[in-house]
Amino acid sequence: MSLHPVAEKLSELLGREVKFAEDCIGPEASNLVGKMKEGDCILLENLRFHPEEEKNDSGFARKLSSLGDIYVNDAFGSAHRAHASTEGVTHYFSQSVAGFLMEKELRYLGLALADPQRPFAAVLGGAKISGKIDVIENLLGKVDLLLIGGGMVFTFARAMGYTIGDSLLEEDKIELAREIIETAKSSQTRLIFPVDITAAEDINETAKTRVVPIEQIPAGFKGLDIGPKSIELFRHELKKARTVIWNGPMGVFECKPFAEGTFAIARILADITSQGAVTVVGGGDSAAAVSETGLEEKLTHISTGGGASLEFLEGKILPGVAALTDSSKVEVR
Ligand code: AMP
Repeated sequence: MSLHPVAEKLSELLGREVKFAEDCIGPEASNLVGKMKEGDCILLENLRFHPEEEKNDSGFARKLSSLGDIYVNDAFGSAHRAHASTEGVTHYFSQSVAGFLMEKELRYLGLALADPQRPFAAVLGGAKISGKIDVIENLLGKVDLLLIGGGMVFTFARAMGYTIGDSLLEEDKIELAREIIETAKSSQTRLIFPVDITAAEDINETAKTRVVPIEQIPAGFKGLDIGPKSIELFRHELKKARTVIWNGPMGVFECKPFAEGTFAIARILADITSQGAVTVVGGGDSAAAVSETGLEEKLTHISTGGGASLEFLEGKILPGVAALTDSSKVEVR
C-alpha cells in the first residue's frame, strides 16, 4: 500500500527528482516541505495508513493543510467520500480547486446529464437492480433510451412474467422492477431489454452455451450474457443516440463465453463516437471491459471513478466536489 514506487515512477515521468516523505504528516513531511524550492515536487505517503483519513478527522485534516497554501483535488475517484483529504482539508484553505482530471470528469459526466445532445441513451448493466436502483430512478425521464443488460435483466424478466431458469433473481425487487416498467411508460424514457440471452448451466471458461429467448430460459440454465439478437437491437438503438452513458457489464464478462455482449457495447460506442456521438463510460467494470478491447482512445471519456461516477449518475452531490471553492459553478444533478 506504500506510495514509494509511485514516487519513483513519477520522478521518471517528470524527468526530475520527486522526494518521498515516509509519512503524510509529522516532522519529516514538514521538514521536506519547509525546504522546498520553486518547482520542487514531494510525494507524501499514502494517507490511508492513518485511520483518521477515512474518519474525516479535523485534527488530521488541519495537519495535512499545514503543508500547503492552496488545495487541489484531482481524485475524482474518491470525491464521493467525505474524507480528511477530500473534504476535511478544505476547511483550512482559502482556495480549494479542482485539478485537470477532476475538471474533465465533471465536464463530461456533468454535461452529459445537464445538457445532453439528444437522443440521450444510457446503457446499464451489472449484477443486481439493488446496486443500480438510484441510477435508474435518476435517469428515468432524463434519458430518451434506457438499455438494460447484465444480471438485473432477470428480475425485470420475472416481473414481466417470463421464465428465467436459474438466472440471478432478486425476489424482493420484482415489485420494484414492475414499478420501474410502469413509470417508464408514462415518462419520455423508452426501456429496452435484451430479446435473447446467452445461457449456460455453469460459469466457467469451457461452459457450453445456448442462446435462448429472454421469455424462456430453460430450467437449470443461467442467463449470463445478452445474446446476438440483443446486440443487434442495442446497436440499432444506440446508432440513433448523440449522447450515451454506460455503466455496468452486459454479462459475466470476466469469463470468456459470456464476455461478447459487454465487448460489443464497447465496440458500438467506439463506432458511434467516430460519427460524432459523445460517449461516457462510468468507471469500474465497464471501464475495465473497454480497456480489454483496447478502445479507450475511441470513446469520449472513461471515468476513473467507479463509485464516484455511479453516485454522480444517481444525482448525488459528491462531498469532495461540493467542498471546492467554486463548486457552485459545477453542474451536479
Ligand atoms: P455491478 O458491480 O453490480 O456493476 O456488477 C458487476 C458484476 O455483474 C460483474 O462481476 C459481472 O460478472 C456480473 N454480472 C453481469 N451479468 C451477470 C449475469 N447475467 N449473471 C450474474 N452476474 C452477472
